[in-house]
Amino acid sequence: MKQKILVHICCAPDALYVMDLLRGEYDASGYFYNPNIHPQEEYELRLEETRKVAQTLNFRLIEDAYDNEEWFKMTKKFKDEPEKGKRCDVCYAIRLKKTAQKASKLGFDVFTTVMSLSPWKKADVLNQMGKMFGHKYKINFLEADFKKKDGFRKSVELSKHHDLYRQDYCGCIYSKK
Ligand code: SF4
Repeated sequence: MKQKILVHICCAPDALYVMDLLRGEYDASGYFYNPNIHPQEEYELRLEETRKVAQTLNFRLIEDAYDNEEWFKMTKKFKDEPEKGKRCDVCYAIRLKKTAQKASKLGFDVFTTVMSLSPWKKADVLNQMGKMFGHKYKINFLEADFKKKDGFRKSVELSKHHDLYRQDYCGCIYSKK
């Protein structure tokens, strides 16, 4: 029997490539938790596009709350950091912690995130944090760097083929500026 994996998803194009890759080996479900995305209309758009991917690939998508007030409080002091700086570390941690908690609570075997597909995300930091939260909440973390093996380029092509919305900023108000 395949292991059950909960995959944190931040947007539809990344989900399409990574979920397609993982579903051969795992019984994969998606988890949309992204309180960083600003404004709310953009959040709704990314969620709606992710729902389309879940339908296309036929996986269960778990949606969590858009609790952006807490996100703003936790990242405020790093608002002037560049992308890939300390603010992003806090942002990764907020989302990975919640995914580990959810995966553990719902009885998954393992969890991961699609975020390492992006060339603007630090896979080593994501993997380190994933292992730490996995240890804390007693669930395995799948280490990955999905941008390898030409992953990012393939995901761009796939999302064009499926006519998916591709955002032109990472997500938060600071990256939009
Ligand atoms: S740039 Fe992206 S990863 Fe960094 S804080 Fe903003 S939304 Fe999060």
